[in-house]
Amino acid sequence: MKIAGYIFAMIGGLALIGGLAAGHSVFGPLFWLALGIVLIYFGKKKEEEKHSAKSEATTPSDDNIHQNVNTQMVSADAGKEEVKRETTTYWEKYKSENPAKASQLQALLGVDFSLLSDNDAQEKINSVNRLCSQYSCEIKDVKKRCLQDLEQFPLSFLSKMIEMTEKEKEQEAFNFNIAQENTVCAMIIGWMKERKEILENSNVYNNHIEDGPAEDQLTPEESFRKRYTNALLKRIGGNANNALFCEGYDSPVAHELMDVMYAFLKDTTEKERADSHGYGKRYTSVIIEETEKVTKQYCHAALQECVEHFNFPNKKVVTSFRCPYCGSWKVWDEDYGFECAECGCTWHAPLGYNLYLEKH
Ligand SMILES: [Zn+2]
Repeated sequence: MKIAGYIFAMIGGLALIGGLAAGHSVFGPLFWLALGIVLIYFGKKKEEEKHSAKSEATTPSDDNIHQNVNTQMVSADAGKEEVKRETTTYWEKYKSENPAKASQLQALLGVDFSLLSDNDAQEKINSVNRLCSQYSCEIKDVKKRCLQDLEQFPLSFLSKMIEMTEKEKEQEAFNFNIAQENTVCAMIIGWMKERKEILENSNVYNNHIEDGPAEDQLTPEESFRKRYTNALLKRIGGNANNALFCEGYDSPVAHELMDVMYAFLKDTTEKERADSHGYGKRYTSVIIEETEKVTKQYCHAALQECVEHFNFPNKKVVTSFRCPYCGSWKVWDEDYGFECAECGCTWHAPLGYNLYLEKH
């Protein structure tokens, strides 16, 4: 968990400095580390199937049966035995042999297998089995397992992931000589799209702009506060629902919030607008106040902690808000420094108003 958190924090950081925009090189391997061991597996499987195809060449495979059925359909003088075969589809055969698996398959893919061609049914079943052995789980659990991996990635990555998996889908279809819509990738793309939709609909940003008084009833300062908060929430998007990305001043979400905050603090157009609308003097304080609301709510961190870590990532964060030794928020401000009400230790911390503006 700890290591995973670290890796994902790293991804968050990289995305910020443009790693994602720069190309697949950084992002790709990390993404496939979680999801794409599947990819390695594809390669291996291809070899295995080649071998087994050779060794099974003498016994009729399901493919052969399938071809026979088709030939017999057009044959007018089919014997009794062939007629019997003709009416038994691949799916019916599979269902009678694996009733439990069959119902799990239908539920998993939401597909009525009895309407599929033998080829499609077989290819879909094989793909599901392949993913199940990848995760070493049953059919009914495979979607959950896959989604657990997906949860580790923020909304902003999903489009990229879908795009990458689309490419991978072509490769998989080629490797296995199956239709693209029957690949593992196609299945995963469906789940990623589902998840993307859920995240977009539960996006705090969307919820946030719905409530509050109408725009024309707000003072210019209130209007700016709202706009600024929306900018913060829009940036973190669906990540706000993911503790792995949010928790702490050193979380990727905290980092992104700092990025937005500094962008506004340095934005001369916004500052001029503030000056002309009468909240110019309060411009910095408004930004600080609003940012702190968000860092406290989503990161459980004081703004000052986030600021310190953002500016000096290699330095231990020492603030007046939290005990640097035990992490307690119960802190007394004494003449000799700060004292922790929980563990009793004392320390000095910069009161750092200037830290907000300094960016080395
Ligand atoms: Zn303490």
